[in-house]
Amino acid sequence: MITELKSVRDVWKKMPTERHARIFLEQAIWAGDRFCPHCGSLRSTRLRGDTTRAGLYQCAEKECRRQFTVTTKTPLHATKLDLRIWIAAMFLVLTSSKGISSVVMARILGVNQKTAWKLGHAIRELMDDREGIAGQLSGVVEVDEAFVGGKPKFKHGVKNKRGRGTGKPIVLVAAARNGQARAVLVPNAQGRTMGPVIKDWIDLGSVMITDKNSTYKKIGTAFAGHMTVQHNKHEYADRRTGAHINTAEAVNAVVQRALIGVYHRLGRQHLQRYLDEILWRWNHRVPTTKVRTRKSASGHASAETTTVWKPIPVVDQMRGLLRCAVGREMRRTPAWGLRWP
Ligand SMILES: [Zn+2]
Repeated sequence: MITELKSVRDVWKKMPTERHARIFLEQAIWAGDRFCPHCGSLRSTRLRGDTTRAGLYQCAEKECRRQFTVTTKTPLHATKLDLRIWIAAMFLVLTSSKGISSVVMARILGVNQKTAWKLGHAIRELMDDREGIAGQLSGVVEVDEAFVGGKPKFKHGVKNKRGRGTGKPIVLVAAARNGQARAVLVPNAQGRTMGPVIKDWIDLGSVMITDKNSTYKKIGTAFAGHMTVQHNKHEYADRRTGAHINTAEAVNAVVQRALIGVYHRLGRQHLQRYLDEILWRWNHRVPTTKVRTRKSASGHASAETTTVWKPIPVVDQMRGLLRCAVGREMRRTPAWGLRWP
């Protein structure tokens, strides 16, 4: 069982043939219980023979009897690429902290850019938690919203619209202090739009922290507690209560940095997928404590501990990613495009 991959080269070292990659995918996607992607049955048999495609199975249910492989009905459906290319592409997406462009990915993998672009989107397709496996956010949860693309460019003599009313896409972010966060594109910053999303994300027994925006007032009454900060007046933490939304702002900062350029190039329709990718990375880190010895001017040594957030091992992330692969079929059209059946 492969437990670690350190580089793209490592993929080919640990998976010398495509068969190794297929076995890796079978272990990750089926997690030990091979099931038919058509009917869900756990009864199936391997098809053998010289002319049979590699990794082909047949469902043993009388009403089904359909054939399948590990990639059937996943975003890898009907792929003609070596499965190791897929695993290497996953490696690149998961380990590039600011995301990776299809141009760079194409160069590293030796595929053309269209192929790399589609690989990237197929992998992002696996990154949103639509099954709700991660569960609700709880504890102290900060909520904030931001406009994608930041402030408009300064132009002499032109008073730019700020914030609400600029027509820019809005990203709603919720970040728990324990390292878990959610983000979604919302069409507007109205209470009836954001309220249901927030209540769906956050356990009602939590304490929500937001800025003083009146929209949050009503939403806040649903939770066990609601604290506010006036962060637009350079008040980063409420002096009296210590409440702050620095975590949510940190998520938003990562989102803004990653989306610079991307939004203008790709437009709105792919934005949520990029958000899912950015949030995936945020949610797959663990805190580690680092102890440093500091020497003061007088020569006294003291230990200082800091928390550093590190990504969890990439192979574990891949298994998490592939666990929900079945049912997320994505068709790659011959032209520049993707469609979802
Ligand atoms: Zn079946």
